[in-house]
Amino acid sequence: MAKQSSKREQELREYSLKRADELKQKIKPYLENSKNIPTGLNLTEFYEAQKERILNYFKATQEDWDDWHWQMRNRISDVNTLSSIFPMTEERKAEIAKTGNIFRWAVSPYYLSLMDFDNPSDPILLQGIPMGLELEDKKGEVDPMGEAMTSPAPCITRRYPDRLIINVTNICGMYCRHCQRRRNIGEIDQHSKREDLIAALDYVRANPEIRDVLITGGDALLLSDSTLDWLLSELQSIPHVEIKRLGTRTPVTLPMRVTKKLADILAKYPPLYLNTQFNHSKEVTLESRKAVDKLVAAGVIVGNQAVLLKGVNNNPDVMKKMNHELLKIRVRPYYIFHAKKVKGTTHFIPSIQEGLDIMKALRGFTSGLAIPTYIVNAPQGGGKTPLLPEYLVSLDDDKAVLRTWEDKIVDYDTDSDTDS
Ligand SMILES: *Cc1c(COP(=O)(O)O)cnc(C)c1O
Repeated sequence: MAKQSSKREQELREYSLKRADELKQKIKPYLENSKNIPTGLNLTEFYEAQKERILNYFKATQEDWDDWHWQMRNRISDVNTLSSIFPMTEERKAEIAKTGNIFRWAVSPYYLSLMDFDNPSDPILLQGIPMGLELEDKKGEVDPMGEAMTSPAPCITRRYPDRLIINVTNICGMYCRHCQRRRNIGEIDQHSKREDLIAALDYVRANPEIRDVLITGGDALLLSDSTLDWLLSELQSIPHVEIKRLGTRTPVTLPMRVTKKLADILAKYPPLYLNTQFNHSKEVTLESRKAVDKLVAAGVIVGNQAVLLKGVNNNPDVMKKMNHELLKIRVRPYYIFHAKKVKGTTHFIPSIQEGLDIMKALRGFTSGLAIPTYIVNAPQGGGKTPLLPEYLVSLDDDKAVLRTWEDKIVDYDTDSDTDS
C-alpha cells in the first residue's frame, strides 16, 4: 500500500516537474528580452551625471535640486536653455521651437535628467520634448471627451453616478507631449480660484450620492501644502464622501514634491488614494521610490494609470517590466489607457489590437497584481470602457467555452456550477 502510493507520488512529481519545465520555457523569451529594457533603478549613475550637468548650468546646489519650488522655477521651456545643457543640431532646435510655439512645453530639471539625448527614441525624451509630428496631426480633436459638456459646477467634471473630478489647477511639473487636457494648458499657469473651489465643494455637499471625489488638474500636488490641507479637510468634513483621490504625476516628474511635510498633511485624511502615471520602467528611479515610500508611510494607497503610447511602451515586455518595477516600489498598476484622439498627440496612438496583445501577454504570465485594466474611453464622454482579449469563446445555458491564458480551449460545465 505504502509502496503503491509512493509510486503514485513519484508519478505526480515527475508530471509536475515536466509541467514546471514547460512553464520555465514560457517565461524564457521574456527573461531574454527584459535584460535589454532599461530601468531607472539601474541607471542611477547616468542620472546623477545628468543632474550634475544641469546643476552646473544653473549654478545650483543639491539643496536647490531637492526643493520642488526650485524645480518649478527652473522648468526648462525654451530651446536655447535646453541646447545649452544638451547640445543639438540647428534642425532639431528649429523643430522644437516651431512646435513649442503651438503646443507649449516645459520640463522640470529632474525629469530632464532622465532623458537620453543621444537616443532619439528614448521614452522619456518622447514624452517631454516637442516633436514636429505634433503639427502634422490631421485627426485629433481639441476636446474628444466632451469634457466641456460635463461640468455641472465650476471645476467639476461629472461623468459617473457616484463620483466626480474636481480640477484644481492647470499646472504640471512637466507638460506631457501626449497630454489629453492640452486645451487647458494655456500660456498662463493658474490654480483654480478659491471661490470656484468653494462652489465645487458646495456641489459635492449638495449631492449625497457622491461618495468618491477625485482631485486632479493639471497636477493635484502642484497646489500649495496649505491649499491641499484646506481642500482635503473640507472634503473630509462631508459625511457622504467616503474616499478621496489625488491625480498627480509628481512621483514621476517631480518626486521632490513629496516632502515629509506634505506626507504629514496627507496622513490626516484617510482613506486617501493617489494615482500617478508611470509610462516606462526608466521612470522608476531612486527618487520616485523615495517619494512613494513617504506616501505609503503616510497611509496613502498608490496606483498607476499608464497611457499606452507608440514608441514609449506599446510592447508587452516593456509594459510587464514596468509593472514589475512598480510593484517593487509598492505602486499597484490600475489602468492602461488607450490614448484619446487629442489634437497634436495622435502620432502616439497605437492600435487597440496592440493593447489587447499586451493584456494577453500579462494574464497568467505574471502576477495578477501586475495586471491593470485596459481602458478605451468612449467618444464624447461615453465613459471608460474595459477591453479584454477573448477569454470567453461561447456561453449558453449549460456550457461555457473558455480560452485559457495558454490558449487552450476548454469546456466549462455551467449546469452543475456548484464548485468554484
Ligand atoms: C476617470 C474618471 C473618474 C474615475 O474613474 P474610475 O474608473 O473610478 O477610476 C471619475 N470621473 C471622471 C469624469 C473620470 O474621467
